Amino acid sequence: MRNSAYDILFDQVRIGPLTAKNRFYQVPHCNGGGYRDPSAAAAMRGIKAEGGWGVIFTEQTEMHHTSEITPFIELRLWDDADIPALRRMSEAMKTHGALAGIQLAYSGINGPNFYTKEVPLAVSAGPIRTFTNDPVQARALDKTDIRNLRRWFVNAAKRSKMAGFDLICLYGAHGFGIFQHFLSRATNQRTDEYGGSLENRSRFVNEVIADMRDAVGDTMAISLRVSLDETIGSLGFSNAEVRDFIEMNGDLPDLWDLAQGTWEDCSGPSRFKDEAAQEGLVTGIRDLTSKPVVGVGRFTSPDVMARLVRRGVLDFIGCARPSIADPFLPKKVEEGRVEDIRECIGCNICITGDMTQSISRCTQNPTFMEEWRKGWHPEKMNPKGTSANVLVVGAGPAGLEAARALSLRGYDVALAEAGRELGGRVARERKLPGLSAWGRVADYRAYQLSQRPNVETYFESRLSAAEILDFGFQHVCIATGAHWRADGVARQHVVPVPHDEAMPVFTPDDIMAGRLPSGEVVLFDDDHYYMGGVIAELLAGAGCKVTFVTTSAYVSDWTLNTLEQGAIHRRLVAAGVKIVLNTGIAAIRADGVATECAYTGAPGHIACDAVAMVASRLSDDALYRDLRAREADWADAGIASVKIIGDANAPGPIAWATYAGHRYARELDMPDIGDALPFRREVTALA
Ligand code: ADP
Ligand code: SF4
Repeated sequence: MRNSAYDILFDQVRIGPLTAKNRFYQVPHCNGGGYRDPSAAAAMRGIKAEGGWGVIFTEQTEMHHTSEITPFIELRLWDDADIPALRRMSEAMKTHGALAGIQLAYSGINGPNFYTKEVPLAVSAGPIRTFTNDPVQARALDKTDIRNLRRWFVNAAKRSKMAGFDLICLYGAHGFGIFQHFLSRATNQRTDEYGGSLENRSRFVNEVIADMRDAVGDTMAISLRVSLDETIGSLGFSNAEVRDFIEMNGDLPDLWDLAQGTWEDCSGPSRFKDEAAQEGLVTGIRDLTSKPVVGVGRFTSPDVMARLVRRGVLDFIGCARPSIADPFLPKKVEEGRVEDIRECIGCNICITGDMTQSISRCTQNPTFMEEWRKGWHPEKMNPKGTSANVLVVGAGPAGLEAARALSLRGYDVALAEAGRELGGRVARERKLPGLSAWGRVADYRAYQLSQRPNVETYFESRLSAAEILDFGFQHVCIATGAHWRADGVARQHVVPVPHDEAMPVFTPDDIMAGRLPSGEVVLFDDDHYYMGGVIAELLAGAGCKVTFVTTSAYVSDWTLNTLEQGAIHRRLVAAGVKIVLNTGIAAIRADGVATECAYTGAPGHIACDAVAMVASRLSDDALYRDLRAREADWADAGIASVKIIGDANAPGPIAWATYAGHRYARELDMPDIGDALPFRREVTALA
């Protein structure tokens, strides 16, 4: 059974009129599904209930139509029509004794209102502050508006109750919620009784909480989510002022929910932020209030969690990403199965689902947001089909996940790997600057495979088609990965870049294998995800003088979606990397690269000793093609199917590979669905 050191995590804790069954608190988090995919989002929360969380929250819920954040897809509680979808979610949350919470947001200066076309209302007038510099300004709330807004919060609280929720979280963190906008001098420049002194700036939240208590406080608890520090210096709602505010208003909410800074600060990826990074900012706050405190910090270690509770820093362990990567984290701690925890790697791929308005994925948990769409459970596989065995070729993220999930289904699995270690690309990339936590993709699966009696792993086994035909496995899953191309073909160039062979070109694979350039290096990034920035950082650290050239207006521009673009730019500047944006390369010459402006084509030249090429990747699919060429021999060899998955099929982020591996395992031996859609979805009902 469980280690007694973790018993403290299973204490019951009072929140206002309610009692949470333990200290595991799933703080609000987006999922890219929201109001568009209500049953998918509800089922995802239901899985967390089953996984043992004591408190489970919705994502941000727009509580009135005069403030919405289109294009982002969260939840809405604009009128009674939204209640059924929300009730589906609260019911799922409450299935195993968790408290169900709803986060109410009025976005104020953060909501451009593209959908409702209402004029945004903010604490003080000014341009909308969001990711996209929208050409929209908000007008300041007048006294009538403030009275209306208080009433709208009460209406939303009543509807939350009707929708079956136990707790309401008032959103005042990350720059997203109106409560912070009132509290911070950066967004509150009012001269009336709602502006100026901290007491005045605190007036609105005091009024709203008093109103809501009158309306629903007998049965519901109210929490307030604020950032520990607005991180914009003394003008903002600083950590010192947050402490003053909590000291002055200690008993205001039933629980203090302490997030951090902007969303980028709060959900910092592992490349830039360690577990429990906010410990210093949160320590001591609990002494300022009699109410319980929850804080976050990408907690995956029960030792860290128990220490923070024992030290009196936190009452509740707040988790968003760790609860996505492993919805069963509390259960695993409770049952003494800590080594089975699927730890979040801090890659922020989950966040990209929200940022791209698609639907979220998780690198570690391929079942995330597929609980309803595909009926995938994070801990249980579908029953085994009629066949007996599978050969998985390649032990990267795709092959490892396929082998793990197939073995859980009950198949005998042989995993053949050309190299000497498990992990494929992850075994290499985990050694890059800041990416060590990504190794958890391999570590989790290596341990799980080691516990399975029906998996055999073969190292140094680079298989050929002839060998595979000799073996006689019923199913062959090819997960042989991909490699970076040196010829520059990606987006700017669809055919190879003209290249004078006198200039050495290095790919990320060369560099990860320890073949490093020296001297002055031009790194050309036409990939735009993390690899270019990471390689630049590595080369600068190795003493190269690096010029980072990209066609984009941003360094590593897709990382805007993982909330780390700014941090990457800052890190490269600090490492002394010269950044050249909006610039392509026309040719690689003997003495440097010929450049061209991405807008005008204006030519230029950068002298260098070597080029680091971060372009695109080529699938290593030769084995698959060889096997396909011998399809006529499959039946004699006893082979029923050969499939290719992951990067070998089409290169993508690691999350795409684990998803492909999981999907392969789920679909083996399943009936052919023909042209049917491979997932469920909800289609808007016509009025
Ligand atoms: P993915 O992300 O799709 O899992 P990776 O590139 O991470 O892809 O992993 C592919 C793995 O397959 C690597 O570890 C590589 O050594 C292995 N591999 C490639 N070709 C063969 C082969 N013919 N036989 C066995 N293993 C192979
Ligand atoms: Fe963690 Fe990455 Fe999964 Fe998000 S996608 S929960 S950051 S492992």
